[in-house]
Parts: sequence; C-alpha cells; structure tokens
Amino acid sequence: MGTPTREEFHLIGGGKIVFYILVVIALSIMAAQIVARVKKWQSGRPMGGNREGFKAWLPTPAALKRWWSNVATYILAQRKVRTSRRKSGAPMHLFIFFGFLSLLLATTILAINSYGPVKFHKGAFYQVYEATFDALGLLFVIGCAWALGRRYLQDRRDLGQAEMGEDDAFSSQRVDRRRRPLSSSWRDYATLWLLLLIGLTGYLVEGARISNIPKDWDNVSFVGSMLAKALPNVSDGLYIGIWWFHAILVLTFFAVLPSMRIRHILFAVSTAAGHEEKPMGRLVPISMEEVEQTEKIGVSHTSDFTRWTLMSLDACMECGRCTEVCPAWNVGKVLNPKAIVQDMKSAMNDGVAIAERISDEALWACTTCNACVEACPVLIRHVDMIVDVRRNKVAEGQLAGTGAVMLRQIGSTGHAWGQSVHEREKWMEGLDIPLARDGQSFEYLFWVGCAGATDPGAMKTTKAVAALLKKAGISFACLGKEEACTGDPARRIGEEFLFQDKASQNVGVFQKYGVKKVVTACPHCFNSLKNEYGDFGAQMEVFHHTQLLSDLVRKGDLVAAKPERGKVALHDPCYLGRVNNEADAPRALLGETAGLNNLPHVPEPGSTNLAEPEHYGRKTLCCGAGGGRMWMEEPPNQRPSNRRAEELVNTGAETVALACPFCRIMLDASIKQVTDKEIRLLDLAEMLQEANDA
Ligand code: SF4
Ligand code: SF4
Repeated sequence: MGTPTREEFHLIGGGKIVFYILVVIALSIMAAQIVARVKKWQSGRPMGGNREGFKAWLPTPAALKRWWSNVATYILAQRKVRTSRRKSGAPMHLFIFFGFLSLLLATTILAINSYGPVKFHKGAFYQVYEATFDALGLLFVIGCAWALGRRYLQDRRDLGQAEMGEDDAFSSQRVDRRRRPLSSSWRDYATLWLLLLIGLTGYLVEGARISNIPKDWDNVSFVGSMLAKALPNVSDGLYIGIWWFHAILVLTFFAVLPSMRIRHILFAVSTAAGHEEKPMGRLVPISMEEVEQTEKIGVSHTSDFTRWTLMSLDACMECGRCTEVCPAWNVGKVLNPKAIVQDMKSAMNDGVAIAERISDEALWACTTCNACVEACPVLIRHVDMIVDVRRNKVAEGQLAGTGAVMLRQIGSTGHAWGQSVHEREKWMEGLDIPLARDGQSFEYLFWVGCAGATDPGAMKTTKAVAALLKKAGISFACLGKEEACTGDPARRIGEEFLFQDKASQNVGVFQKYGVKKVVTACPHCFNSLKNEYGDFGAQMEVFHHTQLLSDLVRKGDLVAAKPERGKVALHDPCYLGRVNNEADAPRALLGETAGLNNLPHVPEPGSTNLAEPEHYGRKTLCCGAGGGRMWMEEPPNQRPSNRRAEELVNTGAETVALACPFCRIMLDASIKQVTDKEIRLLDLAEMLQEANDA
C-alpha cells in the first residue's frame, strides 16, 4: 500500500493546455463585466471626500479598520441571514454559502499544492482533506437543491394565488411577479441548476476516477466511493468526458457570474467592506457649498449618489427580505423596497432620471421605518436613497397637499401642527414645572416635543414623565416656548434646509443653557437629538424617557409596573426598538429583563409576562407615522397602523403599552377601527406612574 494521494489532471494530459486557455477566456469575460460595472459606479460621487481617479477606490485608513469587522460580521458570519425571520431561507442560504466557500477553499489548496514548491497533498493531509471536503460539498448540493425546490414551490403558490384572485386588493405593480418579495426569473433557475450540476458533477468526477483507477485509501472520499460502486469500470474515455463536462460547467459559472443574481457573492463583499459605520437613524446633511457646486439639492439621477451607493445596487441579491417587512408594501401600497433598488439600478444602467423608473406614489409612501435596512443582508440603505430623492423633489416644489402644509407650519410657527409657541406651555398649568429661562441649574433638559406639548393623548405622557422625574428627585427643566420642532418630520419628508434651520435654532438654545443631558418621550426627537444634532454643534447625552426611567427603577428610586401575564402587549416604536436598538428599557419598566438589545438573542415565547405581538424589538412593525407620513393622507384600506393594531389586538392583551406619541395617535384611531373590545392605550410612563402612585 503506497502513500495516499491522487494524480491531478488524471488522464487529461495535453488537454491541460486547452483547459488553461479556457480558464483565461472565462476569467477575462468575468473581468470585462466587472470592469463595466465599476465604470457604472464611477459615475457616482467619490466616496472618500474629493479623492479622484483610482485613489477614490483605495480604502482610507478608517475604512480599512472597518473592513475586517464588516466582512467578518456580515459576510463570513452571515449575521443578517442568520437573524432573518425566514425559517427555511436562512439555513438554505447558509448551506449554499458555506458549501461554496469550502469548495473554493478546496480548489485553492489544490492549486497551492500543484504550483507551489512543496507537494503536501498526500498521506494524512490527503485523507483529512478528501473526507472533509467530501462532507462540506454535500452542504452545497443540498443547499442548491433546497433553493430550487423552494423557488419552484413559491412560484406555484404565487400562480395559485393569482388564479384565485387573491391579488385583487393589490395594484398592477404588485401583481407583477418580478416584484414579489421572492421572485424567480429563468436566470435564477439557470444559475441554481448550474450550481447544482457543478456540485453533482464534481462528485461524479471523483466517483469516475475512483472507478477508473481504484486505490486502497479511496474510502476516505466516501461520496465518490459510493458513486464508484454504482459506476463500475469507468473507461478512460468516459472519465475524460465527465471531467470536461464538469470543467466546462465551472468555467461557464465564472463567465456568467457578474451578469447573474449570484454576482452578490462578489459585490456584497465589496459593499460590506466599504460600508460606512453610521447610526441607522442618522441622515447625512447637505451643505450649502455642495448645493453651490452641484447646483442641485438631493438626488435626481443615480450619478448624484455616492459610488458606494451605486455599488450596493449591484450587491442586491433580490432576496425580497426588505419587501417582506415593509409596512407600506404589506398594506397594498406600491412601495416595494426591493423594486426601489432594482429600479435605481435600471436608472443607473440606462442613464435616465430616477423619476423615469420610480413613481412619486412609491417614494412618498415610505415611513422611513428602516425595517428594510435592518433586513437587508448586503447592507443596502434604502432609506438614505429614498430621502435623497425626496430632497430633490421637495426642492423642485413637487411636494403638495398635507405634507407641504406641515412644512409650512414648521417654518412659520416652529410646531409641526402649526400651534403657537404659547401652546407649548399649556400642559404645565398648575404643575409647577421648572423652566430653563427661570435661571435654576438643572441636570436634565426635558424635551417635550410638538406632540408631547399639544396632543391630548401625548400630553398625558408628558405629565407622567414630569411627575416621575419629580418623584425620583431628578433635577430637570423644560424649554417651554423656547422649544421648536426638532425638524425630524421635515428632514424625513425631504426638506433638509428647514430641518437644518430648526436644528441650529435649538442647538443655540441648548448652548445658551449649557445643556449636557436631554430626556425626551418622543423617539423621533430622541433620534434626531442623539444621532443628528451633533452635526450642528450639539454636545450632550440624550435619553429616551424609558431609558432614564428604567435606570431609576434599577436604582430603586421608582418601582416597575408589574403586569399580570399576558395582560399587556408592548408596541416597540421603530425609532426606539429598531433604529436605536433599545428594546430592553421599555421592558424593564414592566419588570422584564429581555436582553433584546443584544441580537440575535430572543427570549423564548412564553418566558415573559408580556403578550409580545408577532413583530417586536428590532423587528417591530411600523405604525405608519414616520417619514412625515403622519401628516399625509392615507387611504383607509392602506393604513399600516390598522395592520399593527390587528397584531396587537390578536395578542389578547387588555392594555397596549406605548413609548411614542406618534404611535399613540396612529394606534388610538386604528385599534378602535379593528376591534369593539375595550383596549387601554397607555404610555409606559403612565403605567409606571400608576404603579408608583399606588
Ligand atoms: S423604510 Fe420602512 S416603509 Fe420605507 S421602504 Fe423601508 S420598510 Fe418600507
Ligand atoms: S435590497 Fe437587500 S433585502 Fe432587498 S432584495 Fe436586495 S438584498 Fe434582499
């Protein structure tokens, strides 16, 4: 018995030269397509400031620091795929991904052995190598077969639904099968068949070789050995034929890779590597210098985006995870985040205005809830793109109706509902609320917000927070009539310079009073103050009221509310639970220690006193008010808040606990629409106040 090993290019002989020529041709075709894509991306704005030419593609030192962590987290560890809600899609993708990676690794090791100075593919190494990669290759084959079956079944289901007329409530855009969350074209089937055949013929080559020249150690290649038993006495000619068939499939794969959906295995790596770390809730400001230079506000053509954004369009794997979670899509609107990405890409490819590909109806439907951004495995930033295009539309005077009225109100009164500054102090009457202008020092500025100051429901929250702060002995003050709208709805609807005006005005007031800490009961204000006001000179710690109050509960200064099991359903606001990753503080106020902030940990169902709705924590479902939608008309049958209300009512809970004034306004109306049952809507601060007054 000799040393275990195997001959490379067994029986191929002079065919090796032909093979290498074909390799060069296939890789050249692939490279030419990649270069064509890079040229498209080059039409965008440079990513690293004003660096031009080749240098603009070189990573900056800061980008290099992020590189490893992004690739390790999102590509190698597949974080978004693992934490996705898809029960079968996630393991299937992991099988294909790790199977593919292992085959790539196996080929690389073989190439090093063949062309390097040391021949190590023998003996114990050979045996471990063969057994390991035989097993890992099975993952790949199973994953590809699984993906094919899943697509086939999905297509059958879609067809059945269409035939049964279940799409009646949907617009014509939604009936278009290519726009469904998980759609399949002939290219997708062709790619999956190609991958499956590559996996199967890889084993076939192994089995044919073992059958052609059996060796004592062949059992380590356990899949190949089994196939060899089924294919006794493979002739030289048959082996050579099978080998070439497999080789041609592999070369075809490389030649077509950049033009198929599977290109994401290339472009997702570069997108993740160049992904700039910034809070999910921070929109990048536009400067007046930029406007003077470009003579434009926002984005009308894809060339106005950065090159990273254009590259990210090519990374889209068309998985539809973003569309599945979109609250607008789920109530039958035309907004489809996957289609937004594809349509942007089509505008880039054809060099046409974005307006030629994406309807205004879709653009204005977005609530900026960031569910799509959270779901996207390749880190695409749909919200940034949508707001950039909105900025251009607003600047061009294309926003009319109630959204435009809201902007005028913020501009004229500094209040999103157009209330006068004096209204901001009405809730304080008889409560002895300290005001910053009175000159007393204070630790926390209690930022009340437009809704908190004037909406009857939200005012109850404001009063409860003030009472709890007093009870816990916290020194605080309010701004009263010196407070102006943070500008959040203006910014998200696309009126960037109105936002900047309000931000500068408010920061001026913060500086006047030396504000170091801010607490607010509005997650939208919280997000802007925490993540965006720094760009305008604010330097302060910002807390959502649930964070400060839960801290006071932890210290024993307040007691937590203790709901009976299943009596309370908690609605996580998008701008708290998802955008600012804070789902623990609201639960702590109800006596829960959930650990939801550290995904992927999710508590077991039934392990909590809360009646959690289907969507919670980072994966919460939007009430429909964000992105300026609160002020825009909504067809009654297309209200995201009704869908969320149904989820909350379906928990069977008698009380819905809230942590956002916008959610309160939306859900108050919707719960009454979806049920006759008496359901209490209370902010967590009110529930805490009840517990502490008892
Ligand atoms: S932010 Fe929300 S509403 Fe807008 S596209 Fe994404 S998921 Fe849909
Ligand atoms: S944008 Fe992201 S989540 Fe949406 S289809 Fe593309 S890859 Fe999937």
